[in-house]
Amino acid sequence: LIKVKDIDVSFGAKGQENTTILEDINLEIKIGEFLAILGPSGSGKSTLLRIIAGLIPASKGKVTYLGKDIQGVNPGVAMVFQSFALFPWLTVLENVLVGLEFKKLSKAEKYEKALKVIDIVGLDGFENAYPKELSGGMRQRVGIGRALVSDPDVLLMDEPFSALDVLTAENLRRDLLELWLDKKISTKSIILVTHGIEEAVYMADRAVIISSGPAKVVEDIAIDIPRWRDKKDADFTALVD
Ligand code: ATP
Ligand code: MG
Repeated sequence: LIKVKDIDVSFGAKGQENTTILEDINLEIKIGEFLAILGPSGSGKSTLLRIIAGLIPASKGKVTYLGKDIQGVNPGVAMVFQSFALFPWLTVLENVLVGLEFKKLSKAEKYEKALKVIDIVGLDGFENAYPKELSGGMRQRVGIGRALVSDPDVLLMDEPFSALDVLTAENLRRDLLELWLDKKISTKSIILVTHGIEEAVYMADRAVIISSGPAKVVEDIAIDIPRWRDKKDADFTALVD
């Protein structure tokens, strides 16, 4: 679905030597995959997500979506940010509508899609609330709704739970996983950047670990765990199988 091919990224101020952040990154995300990307702080995980999203240019290599090189922003993805990145002066509904800004849809169609996604992420009744009136978990639900509303093929999440307290994060992880497993969201694949091995094991079916200075893919592991064990009303007799 998306391929990252021989990507190098280096940053440097004018007149100074460039620092290579990502080196020779190759990565493929297939349809149906929930991929976790793990790595040390400052290793380049967010940079890699931005490359996949087409938000920053690479020094070398390319990103393809559906077999075609992306030119600028990747049309197949939407991003969820660690710090939510909501517009404080917009309501929940208006923030979600931002995700449809560049879509060729009528106003009525946009409202319909936005209201539907607000319901899916569990914010029914909060359409007209402002971010400051919401808890952290609810704010991130808005962030997820804004990303999902455009029906992206791939949802990119950059440490989406790390700004939340333990219980709120746990709830949101479980709810998102349930939406994904029950196919309540149309997203074909998810890439989750996280610090937490446990979070990766809980949610993803594959984990890529990158090293730092410069970042390279050092491990690419399948996480083969039956997800139904985490379902709220899991039937534990199934464990006998
Ligand atoms: P964290 O776990 O703290 O979120 P990360 O793995 O997401 O870290 P990045 O944010 O991708 O890491 O940053 C990787 C390195 O690239 C850091 O050393 C950072 O200072 C540097 N960096 C990121 N963006 C830029 C930029 N626009 N200009 C210069 N250096 C940058
Ligand atoms: Mg980061």
